[in-house]
Amino acid sequence: MLSIVLPAYNEEKMIETVVITLQQLLTKHKIEYELIFVDDGSKDGTWKKIQQVTDQYNHVVGIQFSRNFGKESAIFAGLERANGEVVAVMDCDLQHPPETLIEMYDAWCDGFELIEGVKKHRGKESIMHKISAKTFYNIMSKATGIDMKNASDFKMMDRKVVDSLLKLPERNTFFRALSSWCGYKVKIVEFEVAKRQIGETKWSMSSLIRYALNNIVSFTTIPLQFVTFSGIVFFLVAIVLGIQTLVRYFCHGAVEGFTTVILLLLFIGSVIMISLGIIGYYIAKMYEEIKHRPRYIVSHIVVSKEKMIQEKDLR
Ligand code: UDP
Ligand code: MG
Repeated sequence: MLSIVLPAYNEEKMIETVVITLQQLLTKHKIEYELIFVDDGSKDGTWKKIQQVTDQYNHVVGIQFSRNFGKESAIFAGLERANGEVVAVMDCDLQHPPETLIEMYDAWCDGFELIEGVKKHRGKESIMHKISAKTFYNIMSKATGIDMKNASDFKMMDRKVVDSLLKLPERNTFFRALSSWCGYKVKIVEFEVAKRQIGETKWSMSSLIRYALNNIVSFTTIPLQFVTFSGIVFFLVAIVLGIQTLVRYFCHGAVEGFTTVILLLLFIGSVIMISLGIIGYYIAKMYEEIKHRPRYIVSHIVVSKEKMIQEKDLR
C-alpha cells in the first residue's frame, strides 16, 4: 500500500480537489493507497473539510493538531501514522504534480528506496528571496554534502527509510535534508512546480528566515566555526597592530592613532556580539531539545469507515 502524507494549513478549498485527483490517478494505475491529511492547526474550515472527505471517500485519514506546529511536525505526524510499505509526502496545494507520484512509484517498484522530487525550476521569486534562498541552500548543501538547491519536500520513501526517520530523536527536524542523510538507494525525479491554484503561500519573509536559521542550526555547526575563525583573524590583526604600535612607541613616542583605536573597538565589539549571538542560538536550540517536548500534539483523528474496519481486522 502507498501512504500519502499531506500537510495542510488553511487549505479548505484544496482538500476535496486533492482527494478526487489522487483517487482518480491512483485507481487508474491500480495502486492501493491511503491519504493522510494532517491539519496543522488551520484557522479556516480545513478540519471540517477533512472530516467531510473521510465520510465521503474511502482510504482517508485525518489528523488534527491542537495548534499550528509547522510543516515539519505535520510531515512527521503523517509518517508516524502511515501504514504503507511505501510512503509519499506531498503538498496539499497540488503544486507537486500528482503524475510524478506514478513515476516515483515505478522507481520504488524498481528497487529504489528513497525517491527525491527535485524542482526543475524554482517558481517566480523576488530578487531578495532568490539571494537569501541561495545563501541558505549553499550553507545547507555544504552541511549535508548533497546539492540542496532545488530540493523539495516531495518524496517517496520505502518503509525502511520511514522507520529510520522516525527513530531520530531530535525535535527540530529538517525533513528535506534528513531523508537524504539516512542514505539508502536514492533516485532523483525532476518535476515542474505547478502554480498554486487556490489560496496563497503560507510563508512570510519572517517565517522563512526563522525556518532557514532553524534548519541551519539543526543541521550544521559551521556558524560556530565562524566564531573560531573570526577569533583567529582578529588575533592575527592584533599581532600586526601590536607590533606597529610598539615600533611607533619606541621610534616616535606615539600619541596619534585614536582613529585606529575607535575603529578597532567598534569592529571587535560587533564581532564579539555576533559571535555571542550565534552561540546563544545554539544554546537555545539545545535547551529546546533537552526539554524533550513532543513534536506536536494531536487533538483529533478521523478515519474513513472502511479503513477503520480494515485496521480492526489487522489488530
Ligand atoms: N503547511 C503546513 N504548515 C504550515 C505551513 C504550510 O502544513 O505552517 C503546508 C501547506 O498547507 C502546504 C505545504 O505545507 O500543503 C506547503 O505550503 P505552501 O504551499 O504555503 O508553501 P510554498 O509552496 O509556497 O513553498
Ligand atoms: Mg505551495
